Amino acid sequence: MPLPVTFVQVVGVERITPRMARITFEAESLAESVGRAPDQQIKLCFPRTGQEEPVLPAQDDDPMSWYQAYLAIPEAERPWMRSFTLRRRRPGTRVLEIDFVLHGDAGPASAWAARALPGDRLGMVGPSDLYARPVPLAAAVAGADRVLLAGDETALPAVGTLLEALPAGTPAVAFLEVADAAERQSFDTRADLTVHWLHRDGAGPGERLTEAVRSAGLPGGTPFAWLAGEASAVRALRRHLVGERGWAKASVEFAGYWRHRLTQDDAPTAEDLADAQEMLAQAQREAQAGGDGD
Ligand SMILES: Cc1cc2nc3c(=O)[nH]c(=O)nc-3n(C[C@H](O)[C@H](O)[C@H](O)COP(=O)(O)OP(=O)(O)OC[C@H]3O[C@@H](n4cnc5c(N)ncnc54)[C@H](O)[C@@H]3O)c2cc1C
Repeated sequence: MPLPVTFVQVVGVERITPRMARITFEAESLAESVGRAPDQQIKLCFPRTGQEEPVLPAQDDDPMSWYQAYLAIPEAERPWMRSFTLRRRRPGTRVLEIDFVLHGDAGPASAWAARALPGDRLGMVGPSDLYARPVPLAAAVAGADRVLLAGDETALPAVGTLLEALPAGTPAVAFLEVADAAERQSFDTRADLTVHWLHRDGAGPGERLTEAVRSAGLPGGTPFAWLAGEASAVRALRRHLVGERGWAKASVEFAGYWRHRLTQDDAPTAEDLADAQEMLAQAQREAQAGGDGD
């Protein structure tokens, strides 16, 4: 299966909240399966200054050799690559919506999104199981009696897709940290959902989120948790749920989406590498459980 790589062109820009831009793109090519599952991760490639569109290596059947070709582009021309979530695909079209947190001009993705105009072009890699394991939502929810979602604004696009996918009546609680009350969003869901909005109002990233989950009276039973956002906050939440509340590791999906004071190009820290090991172990446990069930 080749790694899907395509150009996408901006066809619309909307500020859904003061610090969140919903950018609509038309993709040059798109597999049928795109947009059918929740929490689909993509990599966007942003042009360097002076480029009309990013330089993209040709599609390759081998994802590693595509990535090698990407790395072989001279640094001054190589596109910045950043991770995003497909918020929605318009049914029957190649039109995609992606929500960008506008956190300032320090990052090329955020700076681009703040100025995006119809006609602007990016590269898109994925979604693909070749680099992101699909969240096992159906199996997890079938085996759980409640769902906990926790994250910051970078997680809201994925949270939106997960809430839309939850079966009717699923007991779900979401702890969502945003800058302030103006950043709240509404979600369509058939789940039996309680949302706790947490406003940073000047506090550090993840502080309000970790405090709120730590002090929440979460009922026992068999939970499923999905955590995403600033990496140290996600790490602290996972440690709390597994270490202090005794939740099974396999029932806690987690992903550090960004790192305070580090860019996505900066080298992984020792803690990032430990998280990656844990995620690999999780995927192996899942494969094992799937195999046992056959
Ligand atoms: C699987 C996955 C899915 C994601 N989905 C989305 C999504 O749908 N929408 C979305 O907006 N983001 C999403 N993210 C997060 C996004 O990739 C990061 O925020 C990324 O760092 C943004 O790139 P940048 O070029 O703007 O900043 P970078 O160049 O990576 O970082 C520059 C500076 O900005 C800081 N920074 C980065 N992100 C933030 C932030 N959110 N708030 C405050 N400071 C920040 C960094 O600490 C650094 O100091 C996702 C990440 C992953 C891994």
